[in-house]
Amino acid sequence: MNHKRRINELQHRLEKLRVEYLLVTHMPNVRYLSGFTGSSGALLVGPETAVLFTDGRYTLQAKQEAKHTRLRIARGNAAAAALASLKGRRKPVVGFEADRLSVASHAALRKAASNVRLKATSGVLERMRMIKDPEEIVQLQAAVMLASGLFEVLLHGIKPGTSESHVAAELEYVARRSGAERMSFESIVAAGERSAMPHGVASANPIPTSGFVVLDYGVILAGYCSDMTRTVYVGSPGQKQKALYRAVLDAQLAAISAVHPGQEAGKVDQAARKVLKKAGFASYFTHSTGHGVGLEIHEPPRLGKGQKELLKPGMVITIEPGAYVPGLGGVRIEDMVLVTETGCQVLTPTAKELLTL
Ligand code: ZN
Ligand code: ZN
Repeated sequence: MNHKRRINELQHRLEKLRVEYLLVTHMPNVRYLSGFTGSSGALLVGPETAVLFTDGRYTLQAKQEAKHTRLRIARGNAAAAALASLKGRRKPVVGFEADRLSVASHAALRKAASNVRLKATSGVLERMRMIKDPEEIVQLQAAVMLASGLFEVLLHGIKPGTSESHVAAELEYVARRSGAERMSFESIVAAGERSAMPHGVASANPIPTSGFVVLDYGVILAGYCSDMTRTVYVGSPGQKQKALYRAVLDAQLAAISAVHPGQEAGKVDQAARKVLKKAGFASYFTHSTGHGVGLEIHEPPRLGKGQKELLKPGMVITIEPGAYVPGLGGVRIEDMVLVTETGCQVLTPTAKELLTL
């Protein structure tokens, strides 16, 4: 990853942000800029400098990973040490990541800030991270391919009477053995009535003899997350279940067709909603259509109602409409999609026709 270019780009933005330094404390942002993957630290970026502050546990790792930043091993709070390093200058303006700080961390920062003027900033790195560079796209594609290659393993485990967590455990075991660092989030295996819960994390409940099973999972490779959902049917679906599945699939395809550069994120959401409305399922689609994915599983842009953010080439987003009908069951279908110069490319290769087991 070209960390040097990213730091340079941020340095160019400092003036526009009306700050002399940016104190980066959200660890995915620290990683994005420096390559450092530790769980604790702070990066102080000035017009010509970038210094990584972390503690003694990470001396060796930080030296290996963060090649384009200076390293300072701090005792105690890394962010406070970063501010203290500016002592002796004429009260510089230091931006901090206001969205990413707990009340307690903010208090600690203020206490340490006697020699600087703190200024809240919002979404600076998140905006840079929205557009993936070619290396990131390669990594995301690899994570998508690994996860999608595990779908067969998942299907194999789905049998009436087997618990949802057993199904998830098999998946996760094979995922790590296949090279995944870990799962992107707690795997969702939601069977039967539980399929009507959009976030039905795998439970001890058994797979019933008939009903939908929503499978939503992803893996992390080299820090980059993947995210996919397929819904299968155990037993033989009735007309109503088939109609529900068809409506969600049509909504998903309509949303994908709406993805192109210059498009408002909210319009993609609207395209999915329109199809579900026509099929009579509008009120059962209770979440937004998608989200950006990268070093974190949920990143901007958000593809929700009324979102004005314009899609740009290099964004990697999910398209995942769903409908959750109590008594009938739930269906969600999710792909990862790359916004290209001319439209979009669906990254997830797994088939989407209704599979019955
Ligand atoms: Zn998902
Ligand atoms: Zn998702």
